[in-house]
Amino acid sequence: MRALVKSRPEPGLWMEHVPVPEPGPNEVLIKVRKTAICGTDVHIWNWDEWSAKTVPVGLVTGHEFVGEIADLGSAATRYPRGLRVTGEGHIVCGTCRNCRAGRGHLCRNTKGVGVQRAGAFAEYLVLPESNVVPVPEDIPDEVAAIFDPFGNAVHTALSFDLVGEDVLVTGAGPIGIMGALVARRAGARKVVITDLNDRRLTLAREMGIEHTLNPARDSLRDLMPRIGMTEGFDVGLEMSGAAPAFRDMVAAMNNGGKIALLGIAPTAFEIDWNQVIFKMLTIKGIYGREMYETWYKMIGLVQSGLDLTPLITHRLPAAGFEAGFSAMRDGSACKVVMDW
Ligand code: NAD
Ligand code: ZN
Repeated sequence: MRALVKSRPEPGLWMEHVPVPEPGPNEVLIKVRKTAICGTDVHIWNWDEWSAKTVPVGLVTGHEFVGEIADLGSAATRYPRGLRVTGEGHIVCGTCRNCRAGRGHLCRNTKGVGVQRAGAFAEYLVLPESNVVPVPEDIPDEVAAIFDPFGNAVHTALSFDLVGEDVLVTGAGPIGIMGALVARRAGARKVVITDLNDRRLTLAREMGIEHTLNPARDSLRDLMPRIGMTEGFDVGLEMSGAAPAFRDMVAAMNNGGKIALLGIAPTAFEIDWNQVIFKMLTIKGIYGREMYETWYKMIGLVQSGLDLTPLITHRLPAAGFEAGFSAMRDGSACKVVMDW
């Protein structure tokens, strides 16, 4: 089969022919229909410090996908062949304390599809049966293909009560915009999203996020009174991984505010911890999706009318992957979906 392989320890990915993987007893073989490119895949392409120490050379990459079940392992009985599915890309151990307590998203031994085990940028993917998520008929393939990052957004946004609250989202990448959309639908009062990239702020406005801010030109302090905010934000969703964005957020929070941190910073950085103390802020780190509560929320949000399709700016055949990656790398793309 064709697959996008990290076959050399240097920037790039290569389309190669590799054997179709075989499902183990409790696994299923999925015929991949569509995949989407994640920021993580761009890190793997770039072969930065993180990928060089995490990703084995020779790995089939990719983890955002939709497809159909093509074959079943000898003990896999839950789903029929032909079923349209996506799935959770974090494979958990099942034996650590958190796994045994039903908190799989807190597993200490998580392995990532397309990061530490063979991924979805391929004609076929093997996934444990327990990670499979069937896709309801009314959800299009391309939306199911971006469920993985949508789940990051839903997990982050629904970490705290949003009803009637003023919410700040820093970073208007795909996950930030999805987080802001979820906050609106969950009943937030004001939702403000920030980014240095005006194209991304325009997309956020087009998708119904009224208040956008470019911190290179404007400040949250100045914006707040203009939109009828007098005190500070109640909830912050950090979706940029940028130190200045997190510092701005801490400064703009009201006392007692709650922050969910999803953005991954390239290096350690300092913040003013005294503000966290004197404002009595709560800060919660977010990794992945809650298994599997987030998936039920995601499906429900889409089925009740949340439209993610405007986030898909590029649709390409898998053979055009180089164009897709370059659109991701230069910031002109939001989500790139590839057909296999
Ligand atoms: P992205 O890179 O597309 O978006 C980040 C956005 O932040 C960009 O548009 C960038 O212009 C913007 N930004 C940079 N500096 C800023 C600043 N000072 N103020 C405001 N915005 C600024 O990433 P994404 O795919 O939307 O993912 C969002 C973040 O979440 C990334 O850091 C990613 O690594 C991280 N992530 C974390 C998890 C997890 O499980 N914790 C999962 C997926 C992604
Ligand atoms: Zn575990």
